[in-house]
Amino acid sequence: MNNYKYKKSIMKTIIIVLSILTLFTNYINSQMTPFEKNKLTTTTYDECIGFYKSLDKKYEQVKMIEAGETDIGRPLHLVIISKDKVFEPEEVRKNGKVILFVNNGIHPGEPDGIDASMMLVRDLTEGKYDNLLDNVVIILIPIYNIDGALNRNNFTRVNQVGPLDYGFRGNYQNRDLNRDFIKCDTKNARSFIEIFRKWKPELFVDTHTTDGADYPYVMTYIATQHNKLQQPLAEYLTGRLVPFLDEEMKKKNWEMCPYVTTFKLTPDSGIVEFPETPRYSTGYASLFNTIGFVSETHMLKTHEQRVWATYGFLISTLTIADTDYQTIIKNKKLADENSKNKNEFVLEWNLDSANANKIWFKGYEAKYKPSEISGLNRVYYDKNSPWEKEIDFYNNYIPKQSVTGPIAYIVPQAWWKVVELLKLNKVEMEALNENRVIDVETYYIETFDTRTPPYEGHYQHSNVKLKKVNEARKFFRGDYIIYTNQDCNNFIVSVLEPQGVDSYFNWNFFDGILQQKEYFDPYLFEDIADSLLNSKPGLKDELKKKKQDDEKFRNDGSMQLKFIYDNTIREPEFMRYPVARIVNTD
Ligand SMILES: [Zn+2]
Repeated sequence: MNNYKYKKSIMKTIIIVLSILTLFTNYINSQMTPFEKNKLTTTTYDECIGFYKSLDKKYEQVKMIEAGETDIGRPLHLVIISKDKVFEPEEVRKNGKVILFVNNGIHPGEPDGIDASMMLVRDLTEGKYDNLLDNVVIILIPIYNIDGALNRNNFTRVNQVGPLDYGFRGNYQNRDLNRDFIKCDTKNARSFIEIFRKWKPELFVDTHTTDGADYPYVMTYIATQHNKLQQPLAEYLTGRLVPFLDEEMKKKNWEMCPYVTTFKLTPDSGIVEFPETPRYSTGYASLFNTIGFVSETHMLKTHEQRVWATYGFLISTLTIADTDYQTIIKNKKLADENSKNKNEFVLEWNLDSANANKIWFKGYEAKYKPSEISGLNRVYYDKNSPWEKEIDFYNNYIPKQSVTGPIAYIVPQAWWKVVELLKLNKVEMEALNENRVIDVETYYIETFDTRTPPYEGHYQHSNVKLKKVNEARKFFRGDYIIYTNQDCNNFIVSVLEPQGVDSYFNWNFFDGILQQKEYFDPYLFEDIADSLLNSKPGLKDELKKKKQDDEKFRNDGSMQLKFIYDNTIREPEFMRYPVARIVNTD
């Protein structure tokens, strides 16, 4: 070997050794998640927080903060990924970045998003998708239901293929956090609201794993129900955002379909878009003009497939957020501005079952066979009989009940639990500085239904029927006036109008008014009943008519006294909805 050849060979060896060393150092430096180490597992809570802590330590563009309390006494963590190292929401907004909020582990038994997000944040900080962070700041809750994540088991997700063990759906109070965004019974929810209202994200993703029918898709999704959104948000969602995500996921071999809620029994009869009312995460988000997605991986696919599909969904969302950042920011700003002048509010929606769209769907044939247990016919999906065809997609909703917003509401301070939640949601309110009699419109609750057994810790009401009365009412210094000229008008009206599906009334905040406090002794009341009857014009005739029409009433003296009492001197507080509406400017 001559000298030249020898030198060349030495150089070659050095280069090879250096390359191996670099690869090895990268491998050592790059943190692997518990899922990557063993694809059958999901991270524990401690591993997860430890993982983000070390990313925070190592990379300047990652910051993990403690953002409020949870019911289990551990702080709720928020991870912020900002290429510019700007971690204050006001500053981020000023810099013209889209804020993408990702929530994981609301149901910790559905942990795909928890594992996917850990890999995603690591990959982003290691520069794998560096360009995607030019116009987006991500805020991410590693595990929202910490309580449930610490309550690990291997049996509660009975229909799900892995991981080996996982957290539980209920939190430490055994509440479903994905029903708690309005009533906020948990500290977790209160911390979430604080984060959400501080950051005001344009886009929100809540990661889940579904139950239900069988079909080939690994990923399904619930997008904000578009009828609820103002223009141009709705148009952007259906015309650009959803088609983009569909296309992008297809390219990644994770073809998606909308979340499968069947119209009848099986998907071939059509599927229905999920109507997420304000109690759900995306329903809540939409009240503030934030477009939301619930990613729902399919429980019969492996945990590994589901994690990667969720990873793909998050990357796809980030991609479009980065590409369309100007439009996305502009749309939300416009919708927030329009909300301030909004007068008509829909409180409840009905599925428009006569108006379906067509979508292409891949399914497995639903067949029936006798059950081993009951001997009765049971449904099953035959993977050997796949089908592809157009099916009906019912994704239109029409208003069931609407209301005209008042100029302002008055919330008496006595209902401080309500006041506290309004403040938490950053609703602006002014306290009266003196006692005042104000002309208002008052609702009297005529009838309502109450569900039993309790749901999420509440005997929730529904189907509220009201009587409107204009009256002068006395309010006290410190009672709150809430003007409906705010960008969160949708929220204000949804919670304060008692007939709203998820109103504070329906969630039992005002149950005190549903019980009468004073009564009468019939034998004493007899002596004044007659003069009371004559004191109110027309009441005597009403009584007479009721006696004629109703035999039971005719033969029951106390019922007749009660009729006079109820219609003359009964306490006004009974059944009077405490929140008043100011409808006249004068
Ligand atoms: Zn879920």
